[in-house]
Amino acid sequence: MINFLDLKKINRRYSLELKEACARVIDSGWYIGGQELSNFEQEFANYCGTKFCVGVANGLDALTLTLRAWKEMGKLSEGDEVIVPANTYIASILAISENRLTPVLVEPDPETYNISADSIEKAITPRTKVILAVHLYGQLADMPALCRIAQKHNLLVLEDSAQSHGASIDGRKSGNWGHASGFSFYPGKNLGALGDAGAVTTNDEDLASVVRALGNYGSYKKYENQYKGVNSRLDEIQAAMLRVKLNYIDNEINERRKLANLYLQEVKNNSIYLPRVSLEEQHVWHLFVVQTKNRDGLKEHLQANGIQTLIHYPIPAHRQNAYKDLAAQSYPITEAIHERVLSVPLSIETTEEEAETIIKSLNNFQAAD
Ligand SMILES: *Cc1c(COP(=O)(O)O)cnc(C)c1O
Repeated sequence: MINFLDLKKINRRYSLELKEACARVIDSGWYIGGQELSNFEQEFANYCGTKFCVGVANGLDALTLTLRAWKEMGKLSEGDEVIVPANTYIASILAISENRLTPVLVEPDPETYNISADSIEKAITPRTKVILAVHLYGQLADMPALCRIAQKHNLLVLEDSAQSHGASIDGRKSGNWGHASGFSFYPGKNLGALGDAGAVTTNDEDLASVVRALGNYGSYKKYENQYKGVNSRLDEIQAAMLRVKLNYIDNEINERRKLANLYLQEVKNNSIYLPRVSLEEQHVWHLFVVQTKNRDGLKEHLQANGIQTLIHYPIPAHRQNAYKDLAAQSYPITEAIHERVLSVPLSIETTEEEAETIIKSLNNFQAAD
């Protein structure tokens, strides 16, 4: 069986270094808010090209706390509208509703799956305050265009970079386009911890310090609380794991691109629609997502050939029980995407032989199967 993702193999590559780093933290006697975290924050900010990075507990908190910080700073108030692609992972939308802001769902570009400048312009109202740009599947959204629109309408831009560590346009990386960006280091992400972790990157010093305070009970100074904050911290062990893995992310991105290019060149099947990329550097291939009309048929066919696949994502937010308030809305492009997409295995541990099997099985799928 070709597994979709084998985390054991992925981390085994670095196991000596990871164990050393873990032992270093255990022996230090300091487990929260120490040197590992501050070093990781510095190193990850450098990687993204931003001035600041604040570690938090997970990717959802990174987004939620950034929006919350803008509320505390007087830049947003309850009911303000946040434009977000309708086909994103639910976390992007949860971060908006958790803050009692209003998610305004817009259709993505059906070719890139990312929010398009056109659909944003049409959705802007006097209450629009934020564009939440999600770099879905690892491909940076059209940030030059989005930033122009944001500037024209005086909007804040928040990037959801949970799937796009290291993707760039003109040398400017994911996390360094918006006013702030939320990252996830969930184990299966391209930069994955060995547990939960997340971070906010920004060039805004005030925002960085409010986010940090909010994740620390709303406190800048011990036992003095400025906000009704939460507990959302990136612990020393996870920071140490991430410092090891950050050293290898660019190599891993190269491996992913090689494999993605192989799929793009070798898969030739008229009933399978392959991903489109405009710039190689823009995509880090967190997921390799194909589309086909008979998605469930393709899934079964690949399963029968020993290939595990996943669907990202089976149900859009406006069709979820959690968002009954959005149920009256209709997003045909998004709904079609959710019916047709299938993610095939692409990881740093996918072997050449496995890739050949995947390509062959995609090529011999017949739409009527
Ligand atoms: C994974 C993910 C998140 C949430 O990250 P967690 O660390 O799991 O909270 C948010 N947005 C997107 C697009 C994601 O893929």
